[in-house]
Amino acid sequence: MDIDIVSVFPEYFDVLDLSLLGKAKSKGLISVRAHNLRDWTHDVHQSVDDTPVGGGAGMVMKPAVWAECLDELLGIHTESPDRPILIFPNPSAPLFTQQDATELSHAQHLVFGCGRYEGYDARIPVYYRERGVDVREYSIGDYVLNGGEVAVSVMLEAITRLLPGFMGNPDSIVEESYTGGNALLEHNQYTKPATWRGLDVPAVLLSGDHAKVDRFRRDEALEKTNRIRPDLIAQLDCHALSKADRKTLIELGWEVSGDHPRRIS
Ligand code: SAM
Repeated sequence: MDIDIVSVFPEYFDVLDLSLLGKAKSKGLISVRAHNLRDWTHDVHQSVDDTPVGGGAGMVMKPAVWAECLDELLGIHTESPDRPILIFPNPSAPLFTQQDATELSHAQHLVFGCGRYEGYDARIPVYYRERGVDVREYSIGDYVLNGGEVAVSVMLEAITRLLPGFMGNPDSIVEESYTGGNALLEHNQYTKPATWRGLDVPAVLLSGDHAKVDRFRRDEALEKTNRIRPDLIAQLDCHALSKADRKTLIELGWEVSGDHPRRIS
């Protein structure tokens, strides 16, 4: 996968050389290029922002500089049949989810644009969409960061860990939170020792009975999701639930006879 990132702080992405992402880079699974937006400026101050039209506080990133940069990275003036997907982090955009990460992990080439200041001129995504580019804007949560660099790092990590060959053990990503058609929060995880500072791991996990362990974990995932993210329970497909899942959900106060669970108590 080819990844281009545009930022006024490209050094921010030196951290991508660490950990599994760094390994994926050295294995050639991903190639990451971080660009400085200021390289596409022409004035002596290398300015990338200007005052907001209509007034207000702060500065807004100028469309002209972004366009010179993005025209080049997206190959907009060439006949390339495979355009990269262009992604802008933006706190006032739809939330980035595991589903988006999964979909984007199949892309060949991603270009990320990191906003700063009050953000980027709203015409930039409009312009590229009108030219047939797949432009995505995502928020990583209901809070405001100083810039898009952290948000891009978050999205990149979520996307690239799904690439075949990225994880040492591919099973690690099969049963995680938010993963799969009927997504739940993951069950709790424990390691040795079985008793630590007076706290025991659940006895069933030591039983060696795989069916019982699976059921225990599934029930724990249902109970935890019910408690922390009931919105995810309400999205489950009842037709894909096992008899045992239905029983647990009924005990947790859900009605499961329709297409999706409905809370009744
Ligand atoms: N004026 C904007 C607003 O109120 O929505 C905030 C701009 S923020 C200070 C500057 C940049 O940080 C944004 O353009 C975006 O790229 C990034 N950013 C900040 N919070 C973010 C979030 N929750 N998710 C994704 N990107 C974010």
